Amino acid sequence: MNRKKALLKKWEGIITDKSVIKAFMQVERKDFMAKETEIYAYDDVAVPLMHGQTISQPFTVMFMTQALELKKGMKVLEVGAGSGYQAAIISKVIGNKGKLYTTEIIPELVEFAKENLEKAHISNAEVIHSDGSLGYKEKAPYDRIIVTAAAPSVPKPLLSQLKKGGIIVIPVGVDAQEMMKIKKLNGKIKKENLGMFRFVPLRGRHGVS
Ligand code: SAH
Repeated sequence: MNRKKALLKKWEGIITDKSVIKAFMQVERKDFMAKETEIYAYDDVAVPLMHGQTISQPFTVMFMTQALELKKGMKVLEVGAGSGYQAAIISKVIGNKGKLYTTEIIPELVEFAKENLEKAHISNAEVIHSDGSLGYKEKAPYDRIIVTAAAPSVPKPLLSQLKKGGIIVIPVGVDAQEMMKIKKLNGKIKKENLGMFRFVPLRGRHGVS
């Protein structure tokens, strides 16, 4: 069995969204990794990038993408572009009419994510060098927001840049994180805890430093 199919088998019953599975099959994770680490592309593990950052475990990427309940044509904000892999998966799911803005605070990773997305022929994602804990006001409001670094709490600007009916998926906590799915309904916020995960810390104004 090929290695991607083996992972899908492992996730059976958990990763069930067909559009997420299709994106997983279309995008090569190795294209978002350094040559030396490519052999780990289809192991279900997080892998080091540069500057102490990591490309998330493939399961985590698919799990968060599924939790976003994406539809074609949506406008999405990501905080923490890293390698660009999560961005590529989202971009495939929202399709050519959709648009993803992904923020990254480390300049070298901005370049890395840009190059990787270009190589993968992803044209509906834009990488922005900024502190994503402030959101990205220029293109707000968003249908969906995903944070791929551990936040001490949900940054206020993200809530205000989310459309009514929108969803944020964000790992919250210091040592280990609860994956929170937050829905914005008629002035009220509904929170759901999807389980424990581990991420590198969110930096910037509403991060840990
Ligand atoms: N989504 C990434 C995972 C990256 S790890 C992937 O698919 O590879 C988290 C990333 O968040 C790191 O690259 C880190 O530099 C970035 N980050 C941390 N704080 C940030 C902030 N305030 N704004 C934007 N990016 C941030």
